[in-house]
Amino acid sequence: MDWQDAVKDILFKEGANRLRLTVKGRVQGVGFRPAVYRFAGGAGLSGFVMNTRRGVIIEIEGEASSINRFGLDLTGRMPPLARIDSIAAEAVEVAGSSRFVIEGSEPPGDADALFPVDTCVCGDCLAEMNDPTDPRYRYPFINCTNCGPRFTIIEDLPYDRKLTTMKEFRMDGLCSSQYADPSDRRFHAEPISCPGCGPRLNLLDAGGAGMTGDPIEETKKLLAGGKIVAVKGLGGYHLSCLAADGAAVARLRERKKRPAKPFALMFRDMAGVERCCLVSKEERELLLSPESPIVLLRRKGDGLPDEIAPDNAYLGIFLPYTPVHHLLMEEFEALVMTSANFTDEPLVSLEEELPSILGPIADAALVNDRRIAHKCDDSIFFVPAGMPVPVRRARGFVPEPVNISKALPACILGTGAQEKGTFALTRGDRIFVSPHLGDLGDFRSQQNYRDELEDFERMLGVSPEVAVHDLHPDYFTTRFAASSGISSRIAVQHHHAHAVSVMAEHGLFDPVMAVSFDGTGYGSDGRLWGGEFLVATRHDFERVAHLKYVPLPGGAAAVREPWRMALMHIRNLSPAALNDLPRSLSFGGFPAGEILVLADKGINSIETSSVGRLFDAVAFMLGCGGKVSYEAQAAVSLEKLAMEAGEAGRGYSFDYEEGVMTLIEPAPVIEAVLEDLSAGVDRACISAAFHNAVASLITELSVKLAKRYGCRGIVLSGGVFQNRFLYEKVIVLSRRLPIPVYHHIIVPPNDGGVSLGQAAAGGAIIEKG
Ligand code: ZN
Ligand code: FE
Repeated sequence: MDWQDAVKDILFKEGANRLRLTVKGRVQGVGFRPAVYRFAGGAGLSGFVMNTRRGVIIEIEGEASSINRFGLDLTGRMPPLARIDSIAAEAVEVAGSSRFVIEGSEPPGDADALFPVDTCVCGDCLAEMNDPTDPRYRYPFINCTNCGPRFTIIEDLPYDRKLTTMKEFRMDGLCSSQYADPSDRRFHAEPISCPGCGPRLNLLDAGGAGMTGDPIEETKKLLAGGKIVAVKGLGGYHLSCLAADGAAVARLRERKKRPAKPFALMFRDMAGVERCCLVSKEERELLLSPESPIVLLRRKGDGLPDEIAPDNAYLGIFLPYTPVHHLLMEEFEALVMTSANFTDEPLVSLEEELPSILGPIADAALVNDRRIAHKCDDSIFFVPAGMPVPVRRARGFVPEPVNISKALPACILGTGAQEKGTFALTRGDRIFVSPHLGDLGDFRSQQNYRDELEDFERMLGVSPEVAVHDLHPDYFTTRFAASSGISSRIAVQHHHAHAVSVMAEHGLFDPVMAVSFDGTGYGSDGRLWGGEFLVATRHDFERVAHLKYVPLPGGAAAVREPWRMALMHIRNLSPAALNDLPRSLSFGGFPAGEILVLADKGINSIETSSVGRLFDAVAFMLGCGGKVSYEAQAAVSLEKLAMEAGEAGRGYSFDYEEGVMTLIEPAPVIEAVLEDLSAGVDRACISAAFHNAVASLITELSVKLAKRYGCRGIVLSGGVFQNRFLYEKVIVLSRRLPIPVYHHIIVPPNDGGVSLGQAAAGGAIIEKG
């Protein structure tokens, strides 16, 4: 943001006077007002600064040269977390004020202010925490204007202590004097606290009774002794145990009823991370960023127990981001830190929810009395070919909105998908996407969805006029749209929404060629799509190519049992193909006969074009298991296998004949897999050749179709793009394409990104009438 641009029409024309600046961007809860105060003081100006729902308002009065100096400071020397998107300047009447003051915030009302994100504890605070002479020595809730809790403690806007859960703590002399002292780095730090007045830690035993001793030191002893401890963090509890203790990790799996889905690890420092994983420059930056997400890193011989991430080539790694984490990690190189919940249930964040995990899962709980206003999971990224892509968007990123450069015609609610629930709520030219809300098949997740939506509506001061939902009749979010009382409703096809979410992230309006390779999403023809090439605009799409349909025998059961998809894809070759299988491949032990009958009669066997299910089929054929316990488990194993092949360049080919609708025939690929299996080719090479086939299909066919339909860009979306081995091949191939390829950068390629696309598509559909 350039200062001269903001004031070019005012300041130098009218001379010394008083200016009112309306500053928008990430300017609240990031130490912006104190910085303004210092800049004004430094330039000898009077006036005020105030948080409002429309952004930060600054009035400054004095000599033109001083105002100019102030403006250069404002735009050039911002606090580290601040970001100015715009400055509107107007001349106002001179008030003759003598001082510069920070005014109280405007009361809640109509609004256009952003609300701030949670950030990791900063270096200054850590230094104080480790200084024995500091009043906050070893204080587990240390924070300042540059760091600490934000979104997770905010109950209403604007961001002001009295509208956060910190209102329950009365500042003592130390905190109130720092809070009021413009020269202090905690000047107007809303969550400020100290050992004399702030939240306290408490360690509870499995029965919920308080334990004696220093909570941090006692927790360390429990963890070192192989116990599982629930640790309260910013947006909820983690379940923690020693990463090096295979028995403890196995116990955690058993109690959490989570047999295989990987656990995240918190490492004390980068040295430990680099010992266990390959870390690129971009991955390192993400790990060390103020948002501190979990980053999926490639494992190297790490010596860690298998139970942490069975049959997985990656580890989900993050660094300590709260003072409590830093204190706990003093003793350990790595701790398992997984969300505290049972599989598919929402994250435990409230004291009244604690009994559901304390006892049944955790042997103890490290709690504190700072209330969490919003459940917020850890965000997750992966970095294919140096390009950070979100897998789960929550802490550190929510509620930062997506700016879409053009005001939407109404307040729109995108209700999202099902298993990775999010909603998106629009205001003006911004779309606010909720944190990851989990699997909305669970009624507690549904209640959390409703609560969070109500909170967002109140805080943003909006009430949706239009609800946009999926075509799937059984999604909670589809039924929610119908029962929400929002009179105007629009259905947007799942993969169209995936495509538009990328368009919204990149500000694309012209028609694009959208590749949506996914698990399953309800199609316009009532079948389950997931291998789609669409010519998409924001308001409409035309399906121009897709993977040939095969039955999905047993519906959801086929998703849990990849052998069923292998059966369907092999039978698709010819009815006889099943009689002549390679020796290493067998359907023994599975009711293959029954399933074939089911598929033939079309009983509970809806047809699907899903590429995710094709990955399942090949995974089973290569021995990755007949059943899975979490989504994409088979594909994760298949990817691991492919990576073991090293730089294998060999690839199979799909068949397709271009027409009005291009049908992609997977049979040649399945046939090649069978032939190679029979010939004893290494399974890793077969997996790599399969991945290469999919990558070539994506890049070749999308370019051909883009040319034919006059698209100037290609967008990639859908859950299949969480496969890094595949994605990196696609990125490398797409660098040679004559047409730009766009990827997800703000929301995930999986169904967590659907709500954004729904909201943006809804806006475009309304505009078109
Ligand atoms: Zn700090
Ligand atoms: Fe999807």
